[in-house]
Amino acid sequence: MSRTALIAGNWKMNLDHLQAIATVQKLAWTLKDAHYDYDGVEVAVFPPFTDLRSVQTLISADKLQIRFGAQDLSEHDGGAYTGDISGAFLKALDAAYVIVGHSERRTMHGETDEIVAAKTAAAVRHGLVPVVCVGETMEDRTARGAGVVPVEQLQVVLDSVAPADIVVAYEPVWAIGSGQAATAEQAQEDCSALRRAIQTAWGDERAAPTRILYGGSVKSGNIASFMREPDIDGALVGGASLDATEFAAIARYKHHVGR
Ligand code: PEP
Repeated sequence: MSRTALIAGNWKMNLDHLQAIATVQKLAWTLKDAHYDYDGVEVAVFPPFTDLRSVQTLISADKLQIRFGAQDLSEHDGGAYTGDISGAFLKALDAAYVIVGHSERRTMHGETDEIVAAKTAAAVRHGLVPVVCVGETMEDRTARGAGVVPVEQLQVVLDSVAPADIVVAYEPVWAIGSGQAATAEQAQEDCSALRRAIQTAWGDERAAPTRILYGGSVKSGNIASFMREPDIDGALVGGASLDATEFAAIARYKHHVGR
């Protein structure tokens, strides 16, 4: 089963709307200069909410093939939820994706597996593709075994949401923002366990096309090793996605590794 790779840039709380425009323009020019094949490897950025309208306008005016998404959404569709953003609003902006369950939201905002599942359902309801983040600490991995905690987290989503087009991002907590990426073998071990869980819950017709990303200190220098693994279909990139040149080099991993 061939899956179109996805290189996704999670900007977190960085870059205001003016910086967002400059960054997306620079990314688009860099990729255009390199005759980038967007059909071969999809590129998406995940700016803060306040940037989304500017990014949408730029992408649509310049007919760019870069896609975009939000970093979070509400599990509710609308109403008295001060500060929250509905999936309906994101869809109205032509967002393609939305990240749910990033480890920073799980730890800093107390998002449980049940909330992540409800947000995944909301994304699907509004025609957005959720990028469902799961991960483990090194202690989890040592005590419980590779992939056990991420699979448990994903299982709650798989049990409560009907089979749908989702992206899963395996992000070991120790690797996020630390400069200490997992090894490709560690990441493959977990990603294959996640694919097996999807297969068991949703069947092979859903498991086979589902893209599973690795995230955690991905850079242009290490992306190639991850992309050689059979169950890794792309990367969720944090820090390195803020630099358009570096992010473009990550997206061009085929060029510099000959994959
Ligand atoms: C992330 O925030 O999803 C992430 C993987 O960050 P970084 O690439 O900076 O480790």
